[in-house]
Amino acid sequence: MRRFLLLYATQQGQAKAIAEEICEKAAAHGFSADLHCISELDKYDLKTETAPLVVVVSTTGNGDPPDTARKFVKAIQDKTLPGDFFAHLRYGLLGLGDSEYTYFCNGGKIIDKRLQELGAKRFYDTGHADDCVGLELVVEPWINGLWAALVKHFLSSRGKEESLTMASNASQRTDPLTPELLHIESQVGLLRLDDSGRKDAEVLEQNAVNRGQSNTLIADFESSLTHSVPPLSQASLNIPALPPEYLQVDLEESHGQESQAPVTSVDPVFHVPISNAVQLTTNDAIKTTLLIELDISKTDFSYQPGDAFNVICPNSDSEVQHLLQRLQLADRRDHCVVLKIKADTKKKGASLPQHIPERCSLQFLLTWCLEIRAVPKKAFLRALADHTGDGAEKRRLQELSSRQGAADYNRFVRDACACLLDLLLAFPSCQPPLGLLLEHLPKLQPRPYSCASSSLFHPGKLHFIFNIVEFLSNATEAVLRKGVCTGWLATLVESVLQPNACASHADVEKALVPKISISPRTTNFFHLPNDPSVPIMMVGPGTGIAPFIGFLQHREKLQEQHPDAHFGAMWLFFGCRHKDRDYLFRNELRHFLKCGILTHLKVSFSRDAPAGEAEAPTKYVQDSIRRHSKQVAGVLLQESGYIYVCGDAKNMAKDVNDTLVEIISKEVGAEKLEAMKTLATLKEEKRYLQDIW
Ligand code: NAP
Repeated sequence: MRRFLLLYATQQGQAKAIAEEICEKAAAHGFSADLHCISELDKYDLKTETAPLVVVVSTTGNGDPPDTARKFVKAIQDKTLPGDFFAHLRYGLLGLGDSEYTYFCNGGKIIDKRLQELGAKRFYDTGHADDCVGLELVVEPWINGLWAALVKHFLSSRGKEESLTMASNASQRTDPLTPELLHIESQVGLLRLDDSGRKDAEVLEQNAVNRGQSNTLIADFESSLTHSVPPLSQASLNIPALPPEYLQVDLEESHGQESQAPVTSVDPVFHVPISNAVQLTTNDAIKTTLLIELDISKTDFSYQPGDAFNVICPNSDSEVQHLLQRLQLADRRDHCVVLKIKADTKKKGASLPQHIPERCSLQFLLTWCLEIRAVPKKAFLRALADHTGDGAEKRRLQELSSRQGAADYNRFVRDACACLLDLLLAFPSCQPPLGLLLEHLPKLQPRPYSCASSSLFHPGKLHFIFNIVEFLSNATEAVLRKGVCTGWLATLVESVLQPNACASHADVEKALVPKISISPRTTNFFHLPNDPSVPIMMVGPGTGIAPFIGFLQHREKLQEQHPDAHFGAMWLFFGCRHKDRDYLFRNELRHFLKCGILTHLKVSFSRDAPAGEAEAPTKYVQDSIRRHSKQVAGVLLQESGYIYVCGDAKNMAKDVNDTLVEIISKEVGAEKLEAMKTLATLKEEKRYLQDIW
């Protein structure tokens, strides 16, 4: 057994699951993986590590490495480290991301770049897996190629004699090592990712192929979630290896000691009452935006304008009850869940999931701990197939998990937002044990929101705003579903919701509204400049305006407290669809303008008819920004000002970024590349800040 160190940096569990898969497969290829979360800095030491390192890194937020990697990244980014600090280290890195976001796979790219800068060398090309088209498109070949790359590494580092022994061992084996050795060059070619730009282009190309495949299938009206047509229905299938089951679940009669609070957060949790709720949009607005005020006066929770925090939310009660019924466990919903590791499990290093509290009830488990809405991964479908009695249903589940069925999986599972309940309803003979659900359903994640107030302005209160998310799920039949958290919050405040009357409002009847649980978020970069005389520009269409309301309230109080101080200009570029339907905080913004806190307010209405403007219409925030090119360039390049962007990451933030490049290039007379460099410098100096998702 050749040892390698296997680290994962996970946010929602995907990188961990992939690392565990690598760990499980390692033995079959003659390796032993020393598996750790990257945060467990006391369990490994890269400075003295002699074995090859394999790292799986996901990406979160605005292209950041996951929270679990924060300490590691901070440590390796220490500027005092010499350039040969990791010269002894050989590594392979798999980055996970979503190409719909601006900074694709950036978590992995940051670590990869820094390891290189410190002298580490890759023994295997970096992989960038794209959740937008299915991580498995890169993950599977990357893992398949890893074994050959490890063999090659050990062959080259252990000298001729040993390499001959290994090579002869390899040639006697009947496992997949031999064909992989033969194909090493093509594997490496496939995954040659030194030039990340080229790889991203390849990923996009692959996306296009996949989308093309889905489009072709749309014309094929006979295939559905439960039914396939030739050639897939007749194909022999390459299905993923069955992940070893490892959890044994017993349901015991309850004795009233179960955990009943939403506990599984590592951060401190505060239970706070809702003290007000306001609908900020009219009833005919395209999206409904609500503002919720929390009373934090009796807690130690504190925040600065620009901070975000987590709301701990439950799954929908009706979906939980439906799931319990389908699993034939409705009459045991109050039973206590007792978890053990299966004595005979083949899963290496199996451990109990940390997000499931001890002795919670079954109902609590499904309500507060598991993301039951998650789109099931292929490995889950594969495992479900083994608990499906009907032959045709079993085959279809296998197809959906197979390489040949990738386009059907994308169309009927991923793009249709299918969840476990949809699958169980579509495949009635599938009866999985509870343990399997616990092994495959990810942890129910808390949802982040930006603070939309200042505690100077609203002492003891915290405001946040959100749209009630609605989407069409059409796995079995078209159903309009609400977002897990926003749907729950909207129902919670339904009875006390006030019409748009944010300025003065009485506290709602506390008895009517239960408390909610929140926890602070630790990444706090999106703050006002320390020097209040510096000019700032804020760009926040839709609910992206949230942190800027906090900034403006804060500034108003600071100006009251320091009437003689010099405060820099504040620009706000806001965008909404209709002036009279979703112009959020209209009265408040007028007030800030009137008292001179807000010096420039530029609002664009994307769906109102242009008001006969002489200049080009300003449909979106970037059109307004473009219209004020000179001032924007002046603030950023001459007055050492800041620009903040908050809101949608997929389109708006990209387009605003492109507009800024265009403006800098025009105003300075520089090439596009030069303008991009200038913008990158602003980012480095933390004068171009984004809070986008
Ligand atoms: P939105 O969907 O971003 O729409 C707001 C306005 O932006 C609309 O007028 C929309 O116009 C326009 N728009 C569409 N595409 C655009 C583009 N490429 N460039 C510029 N503007 C564009 O607003 P939202 O529904 O309120 O969503 C805001 C986003 O901010 C969400 O992604 C949310 O997750 C995120 N966010 C929320 C918070 C919070 O605290 N709630 C904090 C940070 C981020 P059309 O629809 O007419 O095209």
